[in-house]
Amino acid sequence: MKTAGIHHISAIVGNAQENVDFYAGILGLRLVKKTVNFDDPGTYHLYFGNEGGEPGTLITFFPWNRSYRGKVGGGQVGITSYAVPMGALPFWEKRLSHYDIPFDKVERFGETYLQFVDVHGLILEIVERSEGKENPWTFNGVTPEVGIKGFAGTVFFSLKPEETIKTVEEVMDLNKLGEEGDVVRYRSSSDRGNTIDIKKTAVPKGRMGIGTVHHIAWRAKDEQELKAWQDRVQENDLQVTEVKDRNYFKAIYYREHGDILFEIATDGPGFAHDESYEKMGSEVMLPPAYENRRDELVNPLLPIEVREV
Ligand code: ZN
Repeated sequence: MKTAGIHHISAIVGNAQENVDFYAGILGLRLVKKTVNFDDPGTYHLYFGNEGGEPGTLITFFPWNRSYRGKVGGGQVGITSYAVPMGALPFWEKRLSHYDIPFDKVERFGETYLQFVDVHGLILEIVERSEGKENPWTFNGVTPEVGIKGFAGTVFFSLKPEETIKTVEEVMDLNKLGEEGDVVRYRSSSDRGNTIDIKKTAVPKGRMGIGTVHHIAWRAKDEQELKAWQDRVQENDLQVTEVKDRNYFKAIYYREHGDILFEIATDGPGFAHDESYEKMGSEVMLPPAYENRRDELVNPLLPIEVREV
């Protein structure tokens, strides 16, 4: 049993409209679901991905409007990297400049990454990858020929890199690709969300808050496989949660010993589960357990809209 790779990445951000303007407006992703945080239903949970909201393309946000700024550091996904089609990097250089977003060009394992920071402090990258299908979604000047296809991968900042490496190798069963400088690279089988880079030196502890990744979720095929993952995590002396129903997938959670919160999530049922494919992301959707509290939960949320910026 090997994970196909990244299912989704979830982060804490500030103002929800600023978040929508950045990920839908500037990066050209589709807002595929507007719902609430199932564990804290007074706040939004926003999901962005490719047109279909498929695993390996999904970034999700908890906008904490009036919270404090976090610190990117050890025990977190430090950098989130997106894949674009070959030849698309000049488009993104121009686009980031157009929106006054400063970027650096970083080389890693023979690839050139545009590295920049989102509106709330998350470190992002864009890299060209030939593998993985194009995203058919078109919005605000981003077309399939240049658009984000999904994740390329991530860079982990660990408090105990040797422990994180052990979990990535022995529990998630990714294959080691190589080492370069301070980074070791692992790879999974999917054609997106498949390269996991781990900094080999420990990174000083980060602080959860606005502008930091909360957790990374790995893919499981279905609920039966999720149960097998649960057993495997336990067998490796890691504490794992019960199976939670996240409406669009089922999930378990565990914290690896380098302090990064891992989730394992099923590929299905996906985001057309409670609204049509065409309408995904247009209304605030609630799980059945919260539907009778709709007015109380939804009315205090600041309205947001997907708009051209
Ligand atoms: Zn999650």
